[in-house]
Amino acid sequence: MKVLKFGGTSVGSAQRMKDVTQLICNGEKNIIVLSAMSGTTNTLVEISDYLYKKNPDGAGEIINTLEKKYFGVIEELYATREYKDKTLDYVKANFDCIRSFTKDLFTLFEEKVILAQGELISSELVNLYLNECGVKSVLLPALDYMRIDKNGEPDAVYIKEKLSELLEKHPNADLYITQGYICRNAYGEIDNLQRGGSDYTASLIGAAVNADEIQIWTDIDGMHNNDPRFVEGTSPVRNLHFEEAAELAYFGAKILHPTCVLPAKLTNIPVRLLNTMEPNAPGTLISNNLEKGKIKAVAAKDNITAIKIKSGRMLLAYGFLRKVFEIFESYQTPIDMVTTSEVGVSLTIDNIKNLQDILDDLKKYGTVTVDDNMVIICIVGDMEWENIGFESRILEAMKDIPVRMIAYGGSNYNISLLVKAEDKKRTLQTLSNHLF
Ligand code: ASP
Ligand code: MG
Repeated sequence: MKVLKFGGTSVGSAQRMKDVTQLICNGEKNIIVLSAMSGTTNTLVEISDYLYKKNPDGAGEIINTLEKKYFGVIEELYATREYKDKTLDYVKANFDCIRSFTKDLFTLFEEKVILAQGELISSELVNLYLNECGVKSVLLPALDYMRIDKNGEPDAVYIKEKLSELLEKHPNADLYITQGYICRNAYGEIDNLQRGGSDYTASLIGAAVNADEIQIWTDIDGMHNNDPRFVEGTSPVRNLHFEEAAELAYFGAKILHPTCVLPAKLTNIPVRLLNTMEPNAPGTLISNNLEKGKIKAVAAKDNITAIKIKSGRMLLAYGFLRKVFEIFESYQTPIDMVTTSEVGVSLTIDNIKNLQDILDDLKKYGTVTVDDNMVIICIVGDMEWENIGFESRILEAMKDIPVRMIAYGGSNYNISLLVKAEDKKRTLQTLSNHLF
């Protein structure tokens, strides 16, 4: 059994939904995870925003527009009056539910119910379309098996148990359809796995049913070895190790949600990234196989601020770094890159909300300098320290570009460089020229 997840653009119109059903009706009894139609979750967030601001009229207008869009999709998707009416009733009930919140107190609880409607609707639409086409697909309601605990972490034992119960109830199904992103929390309330969480759903299901493979279908041909918006001649990476994929996901290669990697990695289930527009293209396979000594990809993370703290007091002293890091902790600011010397430390942050307070506190411990508008460039591949040559190839590529920080050794899969934003494009380009 495989788990196939289709993102918002893959179910973004009636035609796209039809295309998806072509892909999933392949004779295999798989579990299909669907996102909301593209744009819907953003619109639901907007509706909630109006309701928080106590503007029911503003919300009402957007609700009506969104509902109309769905009426159009239904008209186009189904061939028979019977199925059109069936789905119209369903969708109207969902929108009535959303409207009911325009009259009362609006809290996080109501917002989560609103946010769940996108996936509830898209999965119902596709499932009924399959039924109309004569496919015996069965809808597995995510709210009946997907659950997070008090810490917001998925409850793997519960998920596995409930999901197998549901699957056992429908042994003769051709296919299973379910919703990404939505779940219940420890109190039984409707909740979600955070924005973009459908990938996570797919991975959690894959782990729960011990799937042969998890497929993430999007509209890009796998993960590219560099950013095609800045670099010419990038190519898809065919194989990635889980650790390499995790590094890339954190550094802005947005096609795979970072958390998605974890359950699949732990259960050693390969994850394949595929393109709905080009279903026969090989895509990218993420697994526990490592290609020895190979550099795979380059990615960039923008809007980085570098902070240097220099102090004679750091020399041969202990406890200095702790004091520095505690300041960032007290302002709830994550640190990305760190490099040290005997008399100073440089680090980077991307959240500058509390920068001024952080700097004021840091000045108690040394001389502080700030460089803003920087970019982290990360190079990912098998960079086990006993491999030789990769450092020099990277530095050779950088010979004409000023580098503010270099970090290696935190993982076997990554080297990070910090450069000025204005040098981002030529850095990505020269690395591509030298490494691939
Ligand atoms: N529909 C949700 C979102 O837009 C979840 C997802 O698509 O992964 O964030
Ligand atoms: Mg997504």
